[in-house]
Amino acid sequence: MQSELNIVWIYPDLLSTYGDQGNALILEQRARARGIPTRIHYVRSSDAVPHQGDIYLIGGGEDRPQILGAERLRKDGGLHAAISRGAALLAVCAGYQIMGSVFGGEEGQPVAGIELLDISSGRGAQRSVGELAADVDPALGLPTLTGFENHMGVTQLGPGVRPLSRTLVGTGNGDGTEGCYAGRVIGTYLHGPALARNPALADLLLSWVVGPLPPMNDEWYQRLRDERLSTVLGDKTD
Ligand code: GLN
Repeated sequence: MQSELNIVWIYPDLLSTYGDQGNALILEQRARARGIPTRIHYVRSSDAVPHQGDIYLIGGGEDRPQILGAERLRKDGGLHAAISRGAALLAVCAGYQIMGSVFGGEEGQPVAGIELLDISSGRGAQRSVGELAADVDPALGLPTLTGFENHMGVTQLGPGVRPLSRTLVGTGNGDGTEGCYAGRVIGTYLHGPALARNPALADLLLSWVVGPLPPMNDEWYQRLRDERLSTVLGDKTD
């Protein structure tokens, strides 16, 4: 894993229920459009997580595969090793909750996470399903986030992370914020997939590992954003 950008999609066999695998395709497509040779590695839960990847992705899933995924990742240790050597991570929904200290299992029982992010999750009073829009932390300089959420969980952020965004529409973490970030690790509840609907977020992840990127033609992404954001926010689009 040298000389090319290595994207690692974690556990396609467990956590691919919500189409988040599209995040890997968006990163690949946007890197290649900038002339960066790129490869996606699909790491099943029976395989070791490689230490040498550049950007790691993990997605949403149902409660039991989520529990299994957390156990396997904890025993494996490869994701921690990769993040400590400077790799980036985008973790979505079940994958996001797994990165914390604890999350709610299928009966609401506490299940240990892998402690890559200073967050803890539990089950909320009701399932949050629908479109979400949120203003991103100005420190990141990104336009309004758009996505789709579908989760029971609510997430509390500790002092070791910053909220990724503040919700305009939708539930997110459940306290008016959506997602979080620390170093090169981003967690979010957003499906869509998130990077197809937020190409600037894709470029942020890419720029963390390859440096500044030239702009590219985002017309089709922008059309999708305009359509989704105007549906959700009316005239308040970015
Ligand atoms: N099982 C988790 C929850 O309901 C995650 C769901 C998901 O990944 N969409 O909160």
